[in-house]
Amino acid sequence: MVDSVALLGSTGSIGTQTLDVARTHGVAVRALAANSDIATLEAQIREFRPALCAVADEDAARDLRVRVADTATRVLSGSDGVLDAARIDCGAVVNAIVGRAGLAPTIAAIEVGNTLALANKESLVCAGVRVMALAREKRVRILPVDSEHSAIFQCLQGAAGNKVRRVILTASGGPFRGMTRDALRTVTREDALRHPSWSMGAKITVDSATMMNKGLEFIEAMRLFDLEPQQISVVVHPQSVVHSAVEFEDGAVIAQLGTPDMRLPIQYALSYPERLPSPAPTLELAQYGALTFEEPDLDAFPALALAMRCAPLGDEVCGALNDANETAVAQFLSGEIAFYEIFERVNGAIAHIIRDM
Ligand code: NAD
Ligand code: MG
Repeated sequence: MVDSVALLGSTGSIGTQTLDVARTHGVAVRALAANSDIATLEAQIREFRPALCAVADEDAARDLRVRVADTATRVLSGSDGVLDAARIDCGAVVNAIVGRAGLAPTIAAIEVGNTLALANKESLVCAGVRVMALAREKRVRILPVDSEHSAIFQCLQGAAGNKVRRVILTASGGPFRGMTRDALRTVTREDALRHPSWSMGAKITVDSATMMNKGLEFIEAMRLFDLEPQQISVVVHPQSVVHSAVEFEDGAVIAQLGTPDMRLPIQYALSYPERLPSPAPTLELAQYGALTFEEPDLDAFPALALAMRCAPLGDEVCGALNDANETAVAQFLSGEIAFYEIFERVNGAIAHIIRDM
């Protein structure tokens, strides 16, 4: 287990679950960073006593500085402050920031040689080719936190140097699994935020509903594990028990199973190669009765197909895909556009880029 972490995105879903793991195993928290939720940051500072805390929002940083003036924690502000948190000397940087905002901290952590436990998949979508090359150059280990990628990474521990034939990336299918493209024209924001198996931040929950999340993860898997697109299959598995699998040359498939609880992949990224008791509930297969698998419906969920087309086209195209998606999801969450318009906007923004390539 690492002795200490810097936790970026500490107030979010992954951030607070990372603190659960840190609390369970007595991992020191050297730095915290978040956007603006200073009430949560104040409580985290008082519990974990980090050397520094970065708040991206300048006004919020000013307020927090006053609130924690009696502590030894130095409060930094703005995106430069977040980069300082990523560069602090620690056992691992956990990057749990949402969106492209996580990319610069990913690069900053790698530049100084910090081990990276990466939840921020958008770093690898926007600049995965560049990030992986930099990590190789700096000999920095990137440990996946995303549950599917953690699963693949865990399955690869049994590879003994053998070649991977195929990776099977599982998807829950989200709250709208089984619905037609037409039926998806009338779903609401509340419907989209009701994920059947995982409790997560708003952006990734909407990405799961459009299945863009699986598209982003397809790109993430290509970059992390150096795979060709034809080496990745997506299969819908609504119970979210098989977190992903790896197929070898002989047809043998090794899968990783567990309850849908992010504290398991978070902890593995921090304890690797060791395994330790976890606060996550244990898996009781008989309680599930059946595990089911089906093909993704690319007609109802065209975002997945679009991301799979972008995946081999490199950082620039995938970055444009990511940014168009971030904008459209924010517009959907603020009530400006309907659910089905997320894909229309993203497709409209990048169709010409793909056509011109
Ligand atoms: P969230 O919305 O719950 O939390 C996001 C965190 O990022 C918050 O702490 C927020 O303050 C911080 N943040 C946002 N903008 C920032 C900025 N500019 N500078 C510094 N901090 C900023 O999101 P989440 O669900 O925890 O997801 C975080 C990342 O992990 C995403 O990339 C997501 O795709 C990935 N992920 C999440 C889950 C999950 O179960 N939640 C699973 C797999 C992967
Ligand atoms: Mg995932």
